[in-house]
Amino acid sequence: MENTNVKNWDNDHFMHPWEGMGDMGQNERAFLETSDGVYVTNDKGQKLIDGPAGMWCVQVGYGRDEIADAMADQARKLAYFSPFNNTNTVAAEFAREIAKRAPGDLNHVFFTTGGSTAVDSAIRFVHFRNNLLGKPTKKKIISRQKAYHGSTYLSAAVSGKERDRLWLDKPDGLAHFLPDVNPLMRGPDQSVDDFLDEKIADLENAILDLGPENVAAFIAEPVLASGGVIVPPKGYHKRCIEVCHAHDVLYISDEVVTAFGRLGHWFASKDVFDIQPDIITCAKGLTSGYAPMGAAIFSDRLIDSVSGDKGQGAVFSNGYTYSGHPVSAAAGMASMNIIEREGILEHVRKVTPQFQARLHGLADLDLVVDTRGTGLMGCIQCSYGGSKNGTLDQDYELGAKIDTACQSKGLVLRPLINMCVMSPPLVISPQQIDEMFYVLEGAIKAVT
Ligand code: PLP
Repeated sequence: MENTNVKNWDNDHFMHPWEGMGDMGQNERAFLETSDGVYVTNDKGQKLIDGPAGMWCVQVGYGRDEIADAMADQARKLAYFSPFNNTNTVAAEFAREIAKRAPGDLNHVFFTTGGSTAVDSAIRFVHFRNNLLGKPTKKKIISRQKAYHGSTYLSAAVSGKERDRLWLDKPDGLAHFLPDVNPLMRGPDQSVDDFLDEKIADLENAILDLGPENVAAFIAEPVLASGGVIVPPKGYHKRCIEVCHAHDVLYISDEVVTAFGRLGHWFASKDVFDIQPDIITCAKGLTSGYAPMGAAIFSDRLIDSVSGDKGQGAVFSNGYTYSGHPVSAAAGMASMNIIEREGILEHVRKVTPQFQARLHGLADLDLVVDTRGTGLMGCIQCSYGGSKNGTLDQDYELGAKIDTACQSKGLVLRPLINMCVMSPPLVISPQQIDEMFYVLEGAIKAVT
């Protein structure tokens, strides 16, 4: 039921992420009330397909009693206890299950409250380790333009979305950003192979310019998600990790979006991109979004280098009241069981070709300047007049118009400025994929 009081309460009191201050208090946000499978229903009773799976996270879809029951049971049994000096059974069990699925020797799961704190913890651990190893200058983090790694001060400091950086401060000198790895940005006569060579040289030159003795880690999303689903050229990650390891630089793979099935595997680093990172960060799909939780997963090699005799007297003094929260861990275990039992990873691999074909099928529409994606991740970049981007205001306006048109036709979209990003719940059926792209196509045409 539409409720004008609630609209006012939301506008007057709920300050949202990425709040546009000019419109604050006058927003017309959609109120979502109920959900089932890949659908959410708004306060007007309209049923909409959830294009972004909440925010890249509702892997197993909505309305899963099994997860709700597991959370309720756990809340009744033990809702919470401090993880600092004690532990709980479900978090220990969940850590073991994550370690079993994480590639190679990534066996140490540091639970956090979400993706930003996972990235924060990963970087703090890298700094901690270098202090312990007697390398106090080795602290710089190399990241990339368009990367998004979170919203804590530290994770934001290594995020490279320039359009988000206009009004907030960052620490000086911590991060170095490599140029855009989107092959769309290559020169008119440049082949993708040459572009790839250039990107690898960007990384190596940055390490050499900054000095390997000053560079601690390279952080990269396998696919830059919020930056607009940027898929780097084939072989990029493998060559990057080789460069990193040649210079004693750690590789942090930020799998907050790509882990837990988005590309058809538990983790994409090894199974899709054939790399063995030193640290993986994850969140979102870890619990299918039913409860907040993230994790930084460290390799045996890293942990062994600073523990036991080598770590005498040292404390990694980083952690949260809600590290390993039992109710979140119960949600995560239940979600993992569903993914396994229902063969959801296999399902993603099966429907990916159809999803990608429908996505690229929109490439010729007038407003569309690029279509790109992999797995169940896709982006349709739109712009007035066919240039890659318009002014920021124009791009926001265009994204908002397409979003409004989609919502009126039964699809929730997540416009990232002028980029329509699609990352539906992983259980989406072939018919629902068709339905989603049918609505999107109609909306883009209507706005044109
Ligand atoms: N890392 C990546 C790759 C993300 O996409 C996000 C969020 O979208 C984050 C980190 C931050 O996660 P959270 O919003 O859970 O803090």
